[in-house]
Amino acid sequence: MELEPVTDLPEIRPGDDLAELIATRTTLEPGDVLTVASTVVSKAEGRTADLEEYPVSGRARELASRLEAITGEQKDPRFAQAILDESSELLIEAPFVLAETRFGHIAPNAGIDRSNVPGHDILLLPRKPTESAERIRSGLTERGHEDVAVIVTDTCGRPFRHGQTGVAIGWAGMPASRDWRGELDRDGHELGVTVQSVVDELAAAANLVTGEGAGGVPAVVVRDWAFGDLEGSDELFRAVEDDLVREALREWTFD
Ligand code: GDP
Ligand code: MN
Ligand code: MN
Ligand code: MN
Repeated sequence: MELEPVTDLPEIRPGDDLAELIATRTTLEPGDVLTVASTVVSKAEGRTADLEEYPVSGRARELASRLEAITGEQKDPRFAQAILDESSELLIEAPFVLAETRFGHIAPNAGIDRSNVPGHDILLLPRKPTESAERIRSGLTERGHEDVAVIVTDTCGRPFRHGQTGVAIGWAGMPASRDWRGELDRDGHELGVTVQSVVDELAAAANLVTGEGAGGVPAVVVRDWAFGDLEGSDELFRAVEDDLVREALREWTFD
């Protein structure tokens, strides 16, 4: 497997055609996977915002003051409002906000980013990252680059572990995961639970190449890689009813 950075991309602006900008800067073959950082997908989709655009509700004021009281740091109620607007549920309110976005991804502050957003206060995640991935993929197809899978990534922390990694928040042209259930291990035992989240693994690998700072590499081409013959599945975000951790968080409050 090879990972190649797409270099020389400009600062992305609203309305930019990412498929065009990327296709003219790299070669893409059938079977390749293109990863694109959500940051530039959001910029292209005009998902930048300024805090002054957020009239503060009572709920946002309450959330910000609770965070202030617990962390001892000043919290902008307009930022709390932005999180509420982007979220379908808050799983943790303090000492930090862990929120489910409206498309089902769970992330601190609903994935709202304050890095790499020149000229604006905040960057919201794409509204529907899988649709974004599908759009980029169709754009590539229209330009003659058939059968390229696209993964929209974000950097996200994990429970139980320090550090952040790249994760997939949207994908097109490939399944999200590879189902090993029913396969045999080296002892001949049948695997009962292993479903490999391939899009997350590719996103994490690509994130090694993009980095997090001023590097200017939001897109990576994964070459010489194949999904293989195993059954695929598109389930990535756990359903509420089979998420024990989420259930436990409902009972928990920080004090
Ligand atoms: P996120 O993980 O989706 O939040 O994206 P990051 O903020 O970590 O940025 C990922 C990579 O994309 C880094 O190398 C950034 O320097 C780069 N990047 C961010 N915005 C732009 C942009 O508008 N143009 C270019 N060329 N690179 C960008
Ligand atoms: Mn960022
Ligand atoms: Mn981000
Ligand atoms: Mn990142």
